Amino acid sequence: MLYQRSSQLFAEAEKVIPGGVNSPVRAFKSVGGTPIFVKQAKGAYLYDEDGNRLIDYINSWGPMILGHAYEPVVQAVTEKAKLGTSFGMPTELETQIAALAVSMVPNIDKIRFVNSGTEACMSAVRLARGFTKRDKIIKFAGCYHGHSDSFLIQAGSGAMTFGTPNSPGVTAGTAKDTLLAKYNDLENVRSLIEANSNEIAAIIVEPVAGNMGCVPPSKGFLEGVRQLCSENGILLIFDEVMTGFRLARGGAQELLNINADIVCFGKVIGGGLPVGAFAAREEIMNYLAPLGPVYQAGTLSGNPLAMAAGKAMLESLNNDTAIFQRLEEKTAYLEVGIHKVLQANNVVYTINRVGSMISVHFDASPVVDFQTAAKGDNDTFKKFFHGLLQEGVYIAPSAYETWFITDALSYEDLDFTINAIDKVSKTL
Ligand code: PMP
Repeated sequence: MLYQRSSQLFAEAEKVIPGGVNSPVRAFKSVGGTPIFVKQAKGAYLYDEDGNRLIDYINSWGPMILGHAYEPVVQAVTEKAKLGTSFGMPTELETQIAALAVSMVPNIDKIRFVNSGTEACMSAVRLARGFTKRDKIIKFAGCYHGHSDSFLIQAGSGAMTFGTPNSPGVTAGTAKDTLLAKYNDLENVRSLIEANSNEIAAIIVEPVAGNMGCVPPSKGFLEGVRQLCSENGILLIFDEVMTGFRLARGGAQELLNINADIVCFGKVIGGGLPVGAFAAREEIMNYLAPLGPVYQAGTLSGNPLAMAAGKAMLESLNNDTAIFQRLEEKTAYLEVGIHKVLQANNVVYTINRVGSMISVHFDASPVVDFQTAAKGDNDTFKKFFHGLLQEGVYIAPSAYETWFITDALSYEDLDFTINAIDKVSKTL
């Protein structure tokens, strides 16, 4: 496949946009080559500017759970746009999507909509600090919660890809309030809490990590974190920006049967439009302005186009009782197929999967945290990535990202992908 026009477009973009992209991981820096410029997408496929068709395993980094240009979402947005695109005033639609989200997700009474996952996590932490009247938070190395200052400390995703986990521009003052723990290491969390007693407002965690590849929580880990939070007056924040409305109707809380105190959403909840949200029990949410003292706001928050898209998406997920089972089955089928061909071709690898989140790590040992994720062989990943691209299969251009499976994928698409992986793994 040729990617000539994409290369030209990238060269033009580089002149006026830093690195040619509006979000770093898109730039192909860790895999080399130039990014693919997409023209349009439908269902499971991307169509790029060179006329190539690619099977998409990123799906806008998660939200296109029902496929690209999903008809109910497109229709909802088109109809709404005709009626005005932003008011900065309340609309009935906001209450409708809020009520729907509250009915789908366990353990939340109220939800507030923002414009991105970053904003959702940033606001959740501020709320937790205001509520507990404490300053410090614990985050886990390799977990990514957006690019607000307190999270850019050993973050996953792009921050990990570029080897700059601690970003310049984050002040020492901010960094000192963020304590770092090892994912899946309960004793580490316990000792941080002991060393900072009565100072920790919140523990924020990806309940299934997706920003160091897919890393499932080990048995008892989140249960233990939940207990430690309850015993120490710490709020547990589940960052469900990836897992929300994907792993189950009620997200990871439902799947794992663990209650968080605050839950953050993004991606799926906006049906592909810029939306995030955070939610909690009433006593916590009532701490927010205008009811309470914790300030949080947004001109475009609850934007009618975004809410229309999100509502159409959530309604589809809510009404389709078999969707999460189908996603599980399709991803399990892919997992079995990948195992088969990688084994047959003597590739050294580990696959992690939870529901429709899956990743292939090029290392034989179990991937359970940031350190073990970082052991993966990046040269092999680069070859794997570019090989698949030549076959018409698009996975994330970084070894530290999860693949997101969409229901729009057919079993033929999955077989095509497994065959492509077979072909490519002979060249690794
Ligand atoms: N939290 C998690 C778990 C994420 O994966 C991401 C984005 N990949 C974010 C927060 C930040 O979301 P956004 O990019 O919409 O700001």
